[in-house]
Amino acid sequence: MMISITNQTRSYDQEATERFQNYVEQALLTVMQSSWVDSRIKDSEADISVDIRLVGTDAIRKLNREFREIDKVTDVLSFPVLDMKEGNLSCDLMPYDFSYDESGKKLLGIGDVVICPERAKKQAESYGHSLDREMVFLAVHSFLHLLGFDHMVKEEEEKMFAEQERVMCEIGLPRGENKEISNSSILSGSDDEHPVGEILAHCGYCALIGRPNVGKSTLLNCISGMKLAIVSHKPQTTRNNIRAVYNRPDAQVIFVDTPGIHKPSSKLSEFMVDSSFRAAKGADVVALMVDARFNKPAKVEKQAVETAKKLKKPLILIVNKADAVTKENLLPLIANYASLADFSAIVPVSALKDDGVEELMNVIIDMLPSQPRYFPMEEVTDQSEREIAAEMIREQILHYTNEEIPHGTAVEIDSFDEVLKEDAVDSYDRSLVKIHASIICERDSHKRILLGKDGQMIKRIGTAARKSIEEMTDCKVFLDLYVKVRKDWKNRQIFLEEFGYTQKED
Ligand code: GDP
Ligand code: MG
Repeated sequence: MMISITNQTRSYDQEATERFQNYVEQALLTVMQSSWVDSRIKDSEADISVDIRLVGTDAIRKLNREFREIDKVTDVLSFPVLDMKEGNLSCDLMPYDFSYDESGKKLLGIGDVVICPERAKKQAESYGHSLDREMVFLAVHSFLHLLGFDHMVKEEEEKMFAEQERVMCEIGLPRGENKEISNSSILSGSDDEHPVGEILAHCGYCALIGRPNVGKSTLLNCISGMKLAIVSHKPQTTRNNIRAVYNRPDAQVIFVDTPGIHKPSSKLSEFMVDSSFRAAKGADVVALMVDARFNKPAKVEKQAVETAKKLKKPLILIVNKADAVTKENLLPLIANYASLADFSAIVPVSALKDDGVEELMNVIIDMLPSQPRYFPMEEVTDQSEREIAAEMIREQILHYTNEEIPHGTAVEIDSFDEVLKEDAVDSYDRSLVKIHASIICERDSHKRILLGKDGQMIKRIGTAARKSIEEMTDCKVFLDLYVKVRKDWKNRQIFLEEFGYTQKED
């Protein structure tokens, strides 16, 4: 076996590279000794050679753009040179398939592999295994690709993943080594059913409700500090009202609430009931947060409790700001609330001091169903679908019109109506989303450009935007675009407010 490793990244040190080299040599040997390897390869008596390049995120993104036309950082890329299907050559080996090194040794190159250790590191962390295992795993995965394995269809995928795991075991890097996640916490059914990245987890939605100032944001920030999730703007992962996603190798908790919970206090209780009801409906667990300094539940808390009861959702009481009171002072509060409802758990925390938060997460996680993650670890957004829809329209304006116009335009979503399926089980089960949106521009001349000849331009913008919005909403979208001229809108406060560029005081 001849494996040459070129390390073009600083993030992976010499020692790690040497360990990696040892492992991958063993791995390739194990792979090539498999019974399914074409006898023509075995009989050629050539040394198998593979080039592995370790690169940074920019480099692998560039390769993805060049070769796969996707603008993404991925963990590994394989470039096979032989035409093979699951170890079998599609045609005979030719003299030009072989090369010779300086000592005259006959070599058979099967392809190149590019791995991004930075990306591997993140994955290793999120799966809870060592970076060694992740790096070698990616190499093995790649070797199998070079030999014609694939995972596009289920049966092929099963074969490939079984082979992968067999090799990993044989070289001493089985799944679950470096036991940060025990197999029991993965709750594995059959490994084949949930390959790479889809570890079964305690996973679900937690509606976090509570009056303003009890510390919800502080808690979510604290959780964000420990979460592995990266908040990005990948629209396909959007669900309304997601505030934070907490990821752990064995769990994913999606915190939801409803925007506008900080509305004026006059109608607070109604509003809270309404909004918490909506958030709680789709949730697996409802968590009511209260301030430890106030013993007695008021109307808002009582109503929130009623909501959870009505929906028959498990209810947790989070007593925040526990740092601001003595332990004894907590007792009357707990007694008062306990008489209100049958809480599944009452957990005192200090979100500010990160005290008790981990225990709280354990309590929530224990209550969530075992199922695959809803979201890939890195693709989580905190934008609402409305905001993203507006952005998608803006994107198409940018795409189709020349530079001058987009900067003078704003997109306003006038209405965003969801039609649920007849047999919908929750509010995300939609058959259609109807959107009316206005494109606001500054000049009549801009309007003319945006409309285009016979309305061709606006049609194109609309069709393209609708397609991307449909991908996000995962249902049919009806999109109606209307172009308005508002002279000098950029300078006029009232319009800025209307388009959400400033905070409205209401
Ligand atoms: P929200 O309106 O429910 O999102 O509440 P915030 O997270 O904005 O917090 C309101 C105030 O309470 C802020 O001044 C926080 O610093 C404070 N706060 C939040 N959590 C704690 C805590 O655990 N202890 C103490 N002493 N103050 C806290
Ligand atoms: Mg807040």
